[in-house]
Amino acid sequence: MGLIVQKFGGSSVADADKIRNVARIITETYRRGHSVVAVLSAQGDTTDDLIAKANEINPRASMREMDMLLSTGEQISCSLCAMAIEAMGYPVVSLTGWQAGFRTNATYGNARIKRVQTERILAELDKKTIVIVTGFQGINKLEDITTLGRGGSDTSAVALAAVLRADLCQIYTDVDGVFTADPRTVTGTHQLAEITYDEMLELATLGAQVLHNRSVEMAKRYNVNLEVLSSFSGRPGTKVKEVARIMEKSHVSGVAKDKNVARLALVGLADQPGIAFKIFSLLAKEKVNVDIILQSIGRNDTKDISFTVGKQDMEKARRVLEEHVDSLGFDHIDVNDGVAKVSIVGAGMINNPGVAAKMFEALYNAGININMISTSEIKVSVLVDVRDADRAVQVIHDRFFAEFGGGS
Ligand code: ADP
Ligand code: ASP
Ligand code: MG
Repeated sequence: MGLIVQKFGGSSVADADKIRNVARIITETYRRGHSVVAVLSAQGDTTDDLIAKANEINPRASMREMDMLLSTGEQISCSLCAMAIEAMGYPVVSLTGWQAGFRTNATYGNARIKRVQTERILAELDKKTIVIVTGFQGINKLEDITTLGRGGSDTSAVALAAVLRADLCQIYTDVDGVFTADPRTVTGTHQLAEITYDEMLELATLGAQVLHNRSVEMAKRYNVNLEVLSSFSGRPGTKVKEVARIMEKSHVSGVAKDKNVARLALVGLADQPGIAFKIFSLLAKEKVNVDIILQSIGRNDTKDISFTVGKQDMEKARRVLEEHVDSLGFDHIDVNDGVAKVSIVGAGMINNPGVAAKMFEALYNAGININMISTSEIKVSVLVDVRDADRAVQVIHDRFFAEFGGGS
């Protein structure tokens, strides 16, 4: 009987009954003879509520103090869950991120795990104790609390599964698994039995919040046996693995949407070598992550360069470029945060040139205009007006998956 790491998200631990339900899942696994390490998120909307509380006091609070505050949500759910398990008569201990040995880099609010010192957890497991660990947090070299970024408890769980060489890492959430699109906002979706790490990583990065993208990256690197499933329905979930059965006849596994996008366009640049180099090295120096890039021919021997960034970087990108207007020599910058990125992902699309055309046709039939396009071996993304985004996801999903009869 091996070790299983189980992670429970915010909605799975939202109230006392749900915590008892989680305690039951954990103890049933334990009773079957497994060692269990459970990673919990904060209850329901606790993390959002804590952010709102901070804003009431100081909207410009330091990231260090924000992490001190945000890490408390997970401490509440973990201690309560341990109490529920105590009440059921099982040996249990709850541990904070630092007690569990999570060491991170210094980046408050979006820290990366550097290592996990497992002595304490291993000692507890040796005593046959169930271990409950707070997700989403660790400590840095100053011994300050850090958090891993929103949704980061998935990454805590996968990190533990990797270092403890767990047989399985189960991510329990409020849907039955990974679907062809968000089952809460798209109709006719259906669940995938399996998906590859690469496809899941793309979907998570392109907006499907069901898994934190860094957790998938880590699962792939350490070959963690990963499963997404519901803490409520008891139905089989979705396996995330190196090689997956390609779903039915589709070359596409899923559709994702990301509204955290802004587009900047530099209009009237000189059409000469070195311009793109200058623009994107300025942005890189400011740590602005650039996504889709489009260069087009402008009027009178000029060119335009447009690109997308995360909304949080929009003003920074504009400022940096405006500061260099003389050396870059553009006419003006257009900035637009009323856009969204809609993507299809599928390992099967590489050998099927018709896939992108099918996506564009669905948008054309719905009268939705495409602003920008970007493709890779396993995805096609388009930038559309944010007001069209939900409809775009639905019509693209219908186009690729209607033939499977939906039925989520
Ligand atoms: P948790 O609190 O358990 O971490 P999240 O809210 O972070 O849960 O992630 C689960 C949610 O992800 C679902 O409720 C669903 O609305 C959303 N989601 C988005 N895309 C997908 C998808 N392709 N498959 C399943 N769920 C998705
Ligand atoms: N509680 C944190 C959040 O809401 C971490 C997580 O749920 O994974 O982002
Ligand atoms: Mg989550």
